[in-house]
Amino acid sequence: MKIAILTSGGDSAGMNAVVRAVVKAGILKGCETWVVREGYEGLVRGNAEYMDNLKTQGLATTEPPSASPLQEATPSFLNSLRFGDGHLLRDGTGDYVGGMTLKGRYIVRVGWDDVRGWFAEGGTLIGTARSKAFRTVEGRLAAAHNLVIEGIDALVVCGGDGSLTGADVFRAEWPKLIAELLSQSKITEAQALAHSHLKIVGLVGSIDNDMSMTDLTIGAPTALHRICEAIDNINSTAFSHSRAFVLEVMGRHCGWLALLAGVAGGADFIFIPERPPKGKPWEDEMCAAIQDAIGKRKTIVIVAEGAHDLDLNPIRAEYVKDVLTDRLGLDTRVTTLGHTQRGGRPCAFDRILPTLQGVEAVAALLESTPETPSYMIGIQENKITRVPLMEAVEMTRAVAQAVSEKDFEKAMSLRDPEFVESLDGFVATATLSKEKLLPKDQRMRIALVHMGAPAGGMNAATRAAVRYCIRQGHTPLAINNGFRGLLDDNIVELSWLGVDSWMPRGGSELGTNRTLPSVDLGSVAAKFQEFNIQALMMIGGFEAFNALLILEEGRKHYPAFHIPMVHLPATISNNVPMTEYSLGSDTSLNALVDACDAIKQSASASRNRVFVVETQGGKCGYIATMGALATGACLVYTPEVGMNLDTLRRDVKFLKTRYSLDVKGRSEGRLVIRNEAASSVYTTEVITNMFKEEGGSLFDARSASLGHTLQGGIPSPIDRARAVRLSLKCMAFIERHHALLHAQPLKSRHATGESAAVITIQSSSIEWVPVRDMLKHADMVNRRGKHAWWEGVKELVEALVGRPQMIAMR
Ligand code: ATP
Repeated sequence: MKIAILTSGGDSAGMNAVVRAVVKAGILKGCETWVVREGYEGLVRGNAEYMDNLKTQGLATTEPPSASPLQEATPSFLNSLRFGDGHLLRDGTGDYVGGMTLKGRYIVRVGWDDVRGWFAEGGTLIGTARSKAFRTVEGRLAAAHNLVIEGIDALVVCGGDGSLTGADVFRAEWPKLIAELLSQSKITEAQALAHSHLKIVGLVGSIDNDMSMTDLTIGAPTALHRICEAIDNINSTAFSHSRAFVLEVMGRHCGWLALLAGVAGGADFIFIPERPPKGKPWEDEMCAAIQDAIGKRKTIVIVAEGAHDLDLNPIRAEYVKDVLTDRLGLDTRVTTLGHTQRGGRPCAFDRILPTLQGVEAVAALLESTPETPSYMIGIQENKITRVPLMEAVEMTRAVAQAVSEKDFEKAMSLRDPEFVESLDGFVATATLSKEKLLPKDQRMRIALVHMGAPAGGMNAATRAAVRYCIRQGHTPLAINNGFRGLLDDNIVELSWLGVDSWMPRGGSELGTNRTLPSVDLGSVAAKFQEFNIQALMMIGGFEAFNALLILEEGRKHYPAFHIPMVHLPATISNNVPMTEYSLGSDTSLNALVDACDAIKQSASASRNRVFVVETQGGKCGYIATMGALATGACLVYTPEVGMNLDTLRRDVKFLKTRYSLDVKGRSEGRLVIRNEAASSVYTTEVITNMFKEEGGSLFDARSASLGHTLQGGIPSPIDRARAVRLSLKCMAFIERHHALLHAQPLKSRHATGESAAVITIQSSSIEWVPVRDMLKHADMVNRRGKHAWWEGVKELVEALVGRPQMIAMR
């Protein structure tokens, strides 16, 4: 199959990773891979101008002129190694040099090495455009002609809903276009027969996250990073001067960026198109909400660019500023983030998601038949999905339609559950309303404790829990310094404003350690009684899971533990059994990506250096493996798979072959990621020395240890937003089980096994798992789950660097 990929509509971070993944996955499946420059416009223009140029220079050829000499005499993987155009695309020199370059050439064959290093670049290196011509039948006829000339019959389109609509129109029209081309004698009967069906797959590249039927679009997480960085920066100046800031963010039809930035940035009020403020006039509602929190030194209001009131009158940031200044007397400034939101290096998620989706897109193309619908590749929680493209586009359109008809309930119902839950989460944590307090007999004293090593999002989860508690009338109690702190009576009541600035804080505000309640279970039970703790939420990693097991087991002897108890997994190691995601793991991956980008740059400057990077993670290889996927590392060593002399010998062979195939003078630095516990014999130092010795004149080796840098820093927006969402689910769980418990007679109250549970993400859903059921899925010796959802990722990492092929070469 010949597969072409194009990027269309507004650019977004992660589009280059899509191109890289599609090209590499395509080649691995034996396909020819092409890129179309400048979106649909390039498809319409094709290569006619370029071919004319060649003819006038007497160079007419159908082969790319800069093809590598390796291509003729070598097996097929090598045939696909490079076509020499990748660096022209990457360097941006293509359009400026005539004749043998990309000038006038829009459909370009690319190989394996042509997309090397594209990961870390923002925007799209193959260009994007908004094409008027493609909206016309004539334009699409030219596009079909250009594809048939090149023999291409499969297209991957990465863009927003407009681009995907265009893709579907194109596919639906394809048979008619082919018939028309045949009737005009522009193609032969044989060509018409060979190209009777066009296979199309869509990937959503859009910073707005405005597509229905997928939780996330490519580029949205990076845009959210940019916005949260801005909010975090503004927070400090706002606090210093006691100011209010109104931030305008992108999102014409979709409020996702404004909403998630509001949640993750700890804003006070947001305006989004799907849910205008209900108050009439809305100015009263906003002022009341902000006044409730007065006493704090900063106020942040976020306005989506498409925000409006109930009558669809636009709400502008400047006007919001005037209202805050005139009515509340706040010293207010406006910041419009504009295009800074689009740009910059993709965050970890925008490298992993497009890679997994790009691989899935190629699989979908290969399985496509004239009877199957065109698919859009999406994601639901942690599962890459295929959904009918047109259904997703229609649902997306329906949201805009509902908004334009002022049917905001319908607009919200058409957004995915995460969106709705995030909005509930924002409301629950941003505004202090005393109207909805629970009846006194339903109020609880809820203790919150951090356990194990610090992880990004622990403080955000605690802040959300505290604020929810206060809104409901519960008493939030912080147990400082874990169970050791409890035994020392280090327990305090937290307040609404006391946790205000916790959102962007890394580490653990409560203090955390590895002491388990078994240190003195009887005294722990006594303290539960003394402080009248009626529910417990533990935020942490394997220790917290272990602690919950001990407390649940302790119910046999201590009535004080017959209360609802939950564990919210938070650990950079992501080693809690049964959950695919722990708070902190995204922050950690981003820290790893940042460090590795810098290390790779240094390695590349030396042209031929291999860096062996050591990561934390205990006996769990999650961070190493996903980090390798996110940085394009060429090898990864994990405790699960281990290392031995045979693998090392093969890896040395792979590296030698790899470096010997590099174009002279254009070698790049390469990364090898090794989990700290991958082997007690083949340490980072040993393998670095081995690579150094074996590399000879081909490559050199160095090592770097990332150590505790992976724990710290500012939590990523995804960790913060998930912390809020999961934390509120924990609170709802506690309330539910408290009610069940209190329905029993006081004397014989007995908590069920279900009331001591861990909140987990499993594939596409969030599941509560009673802690005792977790036990059979836990490897208690190695402190990890028995099965890891990411087991196959190591193979993918190695496939995407061509390790198997290069080892097989002689
Ligand atoms: P963004 O979300 O960044 O705006 P988008 O993909 O929605 O991205 P659009 O400008 O709507 O951006 O669409 C990109 C291109 O897709 C258009 O310039 C046009 O070439 C093509 N396209 C959009 N809608 C159609 C359609 N109905 N028929 C044919 N082509 C279309």
